[in-house]
Amino acid sequence: MKPASAIGLFGGTFDPIHFAHLRLAEEIVDGFGLDQIHFIPTATPPHRGEPGASPAHRLAMTRLAIQGNPRFVVDDRELKRAGTSYTVDTLSEIRSSRGDQPLCLLMGADAFAAFTTWHRWSELFDLAHVVIARRPGYPLEHLTASLPDPLRAQYQRRKSADLASLKSEAAGKIFAHELTALDVSASRLRALIKQNASLRYLLPDAVIAYIEEHKLYKEPDAS
Ligand code: ATP
Repeated sequence: MKPASAIGLFGGTFDPIHFAHLRLAEEIVDGFGLDQIHFIPTATPPHRGEPGASPAHRLAMTRLAIQGNPRFVVDDRELKRAGTSYTVDTLSEIRSSRGDQPLCLLMGADAFAAFTTWHRWSELFDLAHVVIARRPGYPLEHLTASLPDPLRAQYQRRKSADLASLKSEAAGKIFAHELTALDVSASRLRALIKQNASLRYLLPDAVIAYIEEHKLYKEPDAS
């Protein structure tokens, strides 16, 4: 019999981490009855330019952001691995240490729309369920229309609203979540910092203090 506990895996550049990331994780851990969410900062993102802050700073900000939430943990394995971070390698590692525990890969709808650009993307469904959260500008009701054909076929075949199957199967389903719309993005935050504008109420105070202390994101944006 499979264990009833399921964990969420939430990868991101977190450059910096903000309230939409935290709210996404909170709504999914709660709404899908997951045990934990593992935040996995990515080292060298394959799909974008160099992050504005170093891996060490992004890791420190992620740790500060999740403080006080017993269901949130940080997994720094991608930062320890040399070279490009591929989700398929991360999930394979986690799968081999977790047996047949249900795993859920969390992402915004913008990330899912670009899923076929991910390395060995179709193998990811063998390793985890995918939970897609609505993101402003990427409505879930129009999601299928915007997907490339092979991904649309996978989506139609795997989509489910049956939360029991999330716990009874280890991987392979796709769930969608109507996340409370929060139109916050890390790129917008970096732009605000360059303008010396207030960041308050967009990300945790501890992360704002860290950014100020270390004078992050003042240089021109590389991404
Ligand atoms: P950037 O603005 O630099 O692209 P970002 O805010 O999208 O950054 P990432 O670290 O790239 O942050 O995102 C990690 C994950 O969080 C992705 O799956 C992304 O879709 C999701 N995400 C980020 N912001 C939101 C948001 N406002 N609503 C829903 N999902 C989001």
